[in-house]
Amino acid sequence: MLKIGIFLFSNDLRVADNPALAQASHEMDNLICLHCLEQPSPSSRVRAPAKLSNHRLHFLHQSLQALDKNLKQHQQHLLIREEPLLDVVAELITLHNVSHVYSSYNAGWYENHQWKVLTSRYPGIVFQQQHSHTLFDQDQLPFAVAELPDSFSKFRRVIERVEINAPESTLTSIAPSPLLASHHKLSANSHKAIGNGIFEGGESAGLRHLSNYFSQKLASSYKKTRNGLDGMDYSTKFSPWLANGCISVRTVIAKLREYERDIESNDSTYWIYFELLWREYYQWYAHRHQSALFTLKGISAENPRTSFYPERYQKWCHGNTPFPIINALMNQLNTTGYMSNRGRQLVASCFVHELNLDWRYGATYLEQQLIDYDTASNWGNWQYLAGVGADPRGHRKFDLNKQTATYDPNGEFINHWQGTSHLATLDSMDAADWPI
Ligand SMILES: Cc1cc2nc3c(=O)[nH]c(=O)nc-3n(C[C@H](O)[C@H](O)[C@H](O)COP(=O)(O)OP(=O)(O)OC[C@H]3O[C@@H](n4cnc5c(N)ncnc54)[C@H](O)[C@@H]3O)c2cc1C
Repeated sequence: MLKIGIFLFSNDLRVADNPALAQASHEMDNLICLHCLEQPSPSSRVRAPAKLSNHRLHFLHQSLQALDKNLKQHQQHLLIREEPLLDVVAELITLHNVSHVYSSYNAGWYENHQWKVLTSRYPGIVFQQQHSHTLFDQDQLPFAVAELPDSFSKFRRVIERVEINAPESTLTSIAPSPLLASHHKLSANSHKAIGNGIFEGGESAGLRHLSNYFSQKLASSYKKTRNGLDGMDYSTKFSPWLANGCISVRTVIAKLREYERDIESNDSTYWIYFELLWREYYQWYAHRHQSALFTLKGISAENPRTSFYPERYQKWCHGNTPFPIINALMNQLNTTGYMSNRGRQLVASCFVHELNLDWRYGATYLEQQLIDYDTASNWGNWQYLAGVGADPRGHRKFDLNKQTATYDPNGEFINHWQGTSHLATLDSMDAADWPI
């Protein structure tokens, strides 16, 4: 009897260096390659992912189209459905006598919850997962996930001793689909979303960007330029492709090592690796803490003292706070779906310390907007800045005037992103509800 499997694509939208896809191809006679564009359900009892902005949707759709194109080179197709994953998998299992389901491990709590539901619903089916979003497999870690070091520095000290495996060799063939090609079509909505014209989703575009980055001498000065606010060259811009899994982080490291061997190895090239270790830390942090990633107190002992002021929240989202640098950054985010690392630190610090808002609303807004949204990196960084995460100092407040003087001394960034055009007071009412 033919062995039929389903491969669930999530944040691993690539063919190369995708160990779970390789395993499924090797073990199955037929494979259904599936991606569900699920609309979050307000009635869901678990925290569902946020609704996606146009920029995020556009990058995702481009990545899915590119994946479908890559799969076609292997006589395969991508089945894209817009219904809930659990319903679609149930339907496919019933219609196609599926015996195996495969996916990459996902650090997200919601995704893990769905996987658990599937495994308990179908005890007769074999479920298999592999790590493809991290540098290391779980069994390479020198500690149990439950004993993840409580700070990045401690993590780095032990993880730097572990060798990073090379990316897997290219897949030569993928088990064919049992479905007719007419079942596979991208949704009509895919063409409605607006892109930013800067980032193009997909595996080939990601690999091109990677080669292009290392073909210049940018990596040699990364440490000096990485805190820039605007432009393509001050930092690597690998994040959109890494977050969606269009390229693997091991492929990035392999390219970096090649650059270090053939061109130059210095403080800056080390720092790219260092930042990728931060990413790695947050991935395991999310695996370790699961639902605590989304709670107000995070992994700390107490809830921070905070509240929710709808007016302040709206002003922050739309870039009309009293802080020009924050307005400019939010305008940049809303226009492009991307913001620099320094920018994200400033807007998060402002959200928590100047506006005194519940950090989870800020994290959710970035989740909607960022084309490089990654559950572990976004929520882990927000916790860190809100003082409820893996920060041994427990409190990071940025002086916005000082930061502006350092990173935008001539006001070019604020000018370009119109940070002063909608300056407004924080509140329009005072505590007794009188207009200010
Ligand atoms: C509040 C906040 C929210 C964030 N949300 C996300 C997110 O949703 N997705 C995301 O990928 N990154 C997130 N980051 C981390 C970081 O800002 C972005 O990874 C980075 O700006 C992406 O641009 P780049 O690829 O040019 O980075 P580079 O500076 O070139 O760094 C190279 C790579 O290292 C990794 N990296 C760098 N800094 C960090 C960091 N602080 N944490 C984790 N990984 C890092 C990224 O994969 C990045 O692509 C967030 C940071 C903050 C402060």
